[in-house]
Amino acid sequence: MIRKTKIVATIGPASDSPEVLAEMITAGVNVFRVGTAHDSVERVLERVKTIQEVIANQDTAVGILVDLAGPKVRAAFGDDPVELDLGSEIEIRSGEQVSTATKIFVNVDDIARNLVVGDQLHMGDGSATMEVTEVAAEVATAVVKRGGTMRGRPGVHIPSSRLSQSSPTAEDIKYFDAVYEAGVDMVAVSFVKTGRDMRALGGERSPRGPLLVAKIETQAAVDNLESILEYSDAVMVARGDLGLECGLPGLPALQKKIISAAVAAGKPVITATQMLESMTEMAQPTRAEVTDVANAVFDGTSAVMLSGETAVGHDPVLVVETMADILDQADMNFEHEAWSERIERSTPSFGPDETDVRKVAFAMRTAAHRAASALKSQNIVTVTGTGATSRAISRFRPRARILAVTPDQRVANQLALSWGVLPTIGKAEGDGTERIMSVLKSLRDQGLLQPGELVPIVSGASNSALVSNVIRIENVPED
Ligand code: PGA
Ligand code: MN
Repeated sequence: MIRKTKIVATIGPASDSPEVLAEMITAGVNVFRVGTAHDSVERVLERVKTIQEVIANQDTAVGILVDLAGPKVRAAFGDDPVELDLGSEIEIRSGEQVSTATKIFVNVDDIARNLVVGDQLHMGDGSATMEVTEVAAEVATAVVKRGGTMRGRPGVHIPSSRLSQSSPTAEDIKYFDAVYEAGVDMVAVSFVKTGRDMRALGGERSPRGPLLVAKIETQAAVDNLESILEYSDAVMVARGDLGLECGLPGLPALQKKIISAAVAAGKPVITATQMLESMTEMAQPTRAEVTDVANAVFDGTSAVMLSGETAVGHDPVLVVETMADILDQADMNFEHEAWSERIERSTPSFGPDETDVRKVAFAMRTAAHRAASALKSQNIVTVTGTGATSRAISRFRPRARILAVTPDQRVANQLALSWGVLPTIGKAEGDGTERIMSVLKSLRDQGLLQPGELVPIVSGASNSALVSNVIRIENVPED
């Protein structure tokens, strides 16, 4: 049995050496995440290159996701800790000067114009909170509602509806262009509010470029989920900022709602932030964390993400091993049939102007999934150029493993994010029976299929077929 739910691990100073990266792959990482918030373009490219070199020496497909920081508001503190005391009054201004216990400088222009009296400002991912009490042209005044210690460049969470700057920012586009050239597999966009935000990176470059991942972390994104899904290849339940924006008690229901909409749309979904947070310092997770990870699996997530746990934690490899163990057991208790039924029920019927290609694709994927469950087969084989067929079958959350055969290394790396999919590099040659048998023999020779095993296989009739239009059920050849 292979693990169905995938692991995304954030890379940072604790994990960016080739040795640790290789060990993390062995422990079960499917996708490495590289942030842009704290590093220059050159440093990000260097990190991407190191990871690419490690991955090139592995025989499993592993993806690289670059996460664009977006318009994250940050306060400028020095290296010495500054205590924000409960009840104290603080002035907030735009600027890069070093902040103190009574004057805070943030990195957006006209900050006072973006605030209204009553706004709650969370600092350093919620460790301190201030409430805005007065707003003038250049300066806003706030009172500390919950105290905390600040140093470095903590994030300041301002209600996203107040922020005039939209995502992706000019800075994000600079990073995007650089990592696009470097051939990364996926790019995430922070603080998106609408589908239109995602289109800013799409267009001509998108079809064979990186998968575009929309981070759902604003109230607007929750409200515009359908249009964001339409213009994204995948989404992230970004619980850190989403929790600040929508309130922690509402988070579990939002997580279910976002995951469910993404799965129905056939898009991979990553559940992120504080999944095994205590393991940043400890050798074991808490019971609450283990339960949270398993419940994300039961909610239907495609992948779970590790953040500080692997970026700055004391033992990134141990965290990944622990995550893999929890996922293995959750996967074993997953209710495949209930999911398949729900997905089949929720699938919309065709409109009058649906194209034939889309109708055929839909019918083939549904048929492959039904064949696999009728046969109780261990595997479903998909031959795919873009990954679309494999992703579409993944959404049924079948019991069978989905083997994805693709000639394109980047498509294989992108499929590393998809639930239940094992990507392999290969080609279908020839036509008719020969074409199907060559794929099955090659998978058998790699040890991925057993001789004699009965499997459904979906493919195009030829390499130029517009859509997978052949489904066969065959025994894997013995010789
Ligand atoms: P971040 O995104 O770690 O880049 O803030 C994830 C989140 O907000 O949960
Ligand atoms: Mn975030």
